[in-house]
Amino acid sequence: MKAIVDADTCVGCGLCPSMCADVFQMEGDKAVVIADPVPESAVECAKEAASSCPVEAIKIEG
Ligand code: SF4
Repeated sequence: MKAIVDADTCVGCGLCPSMCADVFQMEGDKAVVIADPVPESAVECAKEAASSCPVEAIKIEG
């Protein structure tokens, strides 16, 4: 599974790293994906972060 953050859409709220730090990290005022592919242990929190993102900037593939 792959997680993608659309940097143009991300508003830098910090929610996804707080929910799933193994996959998302803030880099300046944007979130970036630090685990590709997403490890099995982090699949659930990555999906939860994607559905919780206030601007739907996180896409999950695979
Ligand atoms: S939850 Fe969405 S808007 Fe907030 S930092 Fe993550 S990708 Fe950006």
